[in-house]
Amino acid sequence: MSSSRLVPAEVIAVKRDGGELAPDQLRDFLAGYLAGTVAEEQMSALLMAGVINGFSDDEAVVMTDALVNSGDVVDLSGLRGPTVDKHSTGGVGDTCTLVVAPILAACGAQVAKLSGRGLGHTGGTLDKLESIPGFTISLSPEAMQQQVERVGVAVAAATADLVPLDKRLYALRDVTGTVPSPALIAASVMSKKIAGGARHVLLDVKTGDGAFMEDPADALALAQLCVRIGQAHGRRPGALVTDMSQPLSHAVGNAIEVAHAVDVLADRRQGRFRDLCIELAAGALELTGRDHDTAMTDALDAVTSGRAAEVFTDMVAAQGGDANVVADPLAVLPAAPVQHTCLAPVAESMVVSGVECRAVGELVSALGAGRTRKEDDVDPAVGLELLVEVGQRVAPDEPIAVIHARTHDTADWAAQRLAELVSFDTEAEVPPLVHARVALGWS
Ligand code: URA
Repeated sequence: MSSSRLVPAEVIAVKRDGGELAPDQLRDFLAGYLAGTVAEEQMSALLMAGVINGFSDDEAVVMTDALVNSGDVVDLSGLRGPTVDKHSTGGVGDTCTLVVAPILAACGAQVAKLSGRGLGHTGGTLDKLESIPGFTISLSPEAMQQQVERVGVAVAAATADLVPLDKRLYALRDVTGTVPSPALIAASVMSKKIAGGARHVLLDVKTGDGAFMEDPADALALAQLCVRIGQAHGRRPGALVTDMSQPLSHAVGNAIEVAHAVDVLADRRQGRFRDLCIELAAGALELTGRDHDTAMTDALDAVTSGRAAEVFTDMVAAQGGDANVVADPLAVLPAAPVQHTCLAPVAESMVVSGVECRAVGELVSALGAGRTRKEDDVDPAVGLELLVEVGQRVAPDEPIAVIHARTHDTADWAAQRLAELVSFDTEAEVPPLVHARVALGWS
């Protein structure tokens, strides 16, 4: 702490009046919160003043520092390959980690990935992986590093000692309406990446109705801020701003997203989800020094050669899961008792012009795939298979989705709701998959 005495109300007043906090002021305030000398209501007041009046980039860097220093930092210096991490700001049908992490390992990178659970309408990697029978997401830091050394990749939950200040602040922000601040989001995301220990960090900043940053310009600003924070902490970060105006993969749920991801890994499935996974893997490989064309070729080759699928199989086996999931996902993964096919409600041939992404995420969460309270269990088997995407032409009564539900009643309810969320027209504007690239060396 600095030598001057901290008066929380004075610090709050600076932000209330639109000023910028001196680094020491902000550091002491956050340290005081952690130590209990700054009260919850004082922290809430500062957060709200910052959400309304804005935190500067420099304040975001100081906050990130304080968050990182509140707990342990993983030391990956003992690993021999380039250490690489990726992070998505969250979306619907966004299972990229399950595909990108094994591709990176198959290309020689070492990936010690700490992932999260579903949040709001967005899914979480840990919930998806736990739908593989036997798979454990609890690894000690030592076990994680040994697995990365041997297999190239491990995906696990962060321990309680990693960035504890973020855990407290995030819970407070969640209940005080103070989540949507670019500086707070960037500090929260980047503190976890920096504490995670990887040198190269690829951020997948989502934009569109299914993302936390709906507007592409806001998402780009968030990506740039994350990159600046990573650089200020001595890492090699880069970012892609990518589309979340419709579900990314054709699967939304837990087990069903795993099934689609392993289909991509085993080179059985094409499409925009696969294309984005290749783009993200290539972006991360570029951070390690490959040029764009080489990185794209290497990422694609890892899939078509079967090497990425082998790495994923080894990872699942190492973490206690049924490794047959890649060869035969339907035999291994839990299936919902009711499968209800929805038909296109059009009288003549039409084009899909929109899929309300956030609402689809909420619908699948309501089927049981997500949580309404932190302590809820998720249902691994339920979800939605979308058989169409924006720009696709459909005929009357052509199947457009399959709902995987526990009961016929919930399936009927979900089918009615889905009919309100997919729109049709005579033509449609197809959104770009990648809106912007930041600090990848080839933008
Ligand atoms: N994800 C995070 O980890 N933190 C935020 O503040 C928002 C999204």
